[in-house]
Amino acid sequence: MAKKQLRCRFCEEQIDKDTKALNRKLINHNQPDEALVCLKCMAETLDCTVEDLRDKIEEYKYNDCTLFR
Ligand SMILES: [Zn+2]
Repeated sequence: MAKKQLRCRFCEEQIDKDTKALNRKLINHNQPDEALVCLKCMAETLDCTVEDLRDKIEEYKYNDCTLFR
């Protein structure tokens, strides 16, 4: 059985596991899968750039955040 591919609630972009973790970290710790957003839409929502968000992901990984394991 194929694993369900997560998609952005706004633009249908595929969501990878880092993006999912960042949703939980920056938007809502209990964000349900169907409410996840891609980095592009998250950047628009948060008024920052996709690059900023990628930096955040690296930062959280570096700090060994449990959501990013
Ligand atoms: Zn999107």
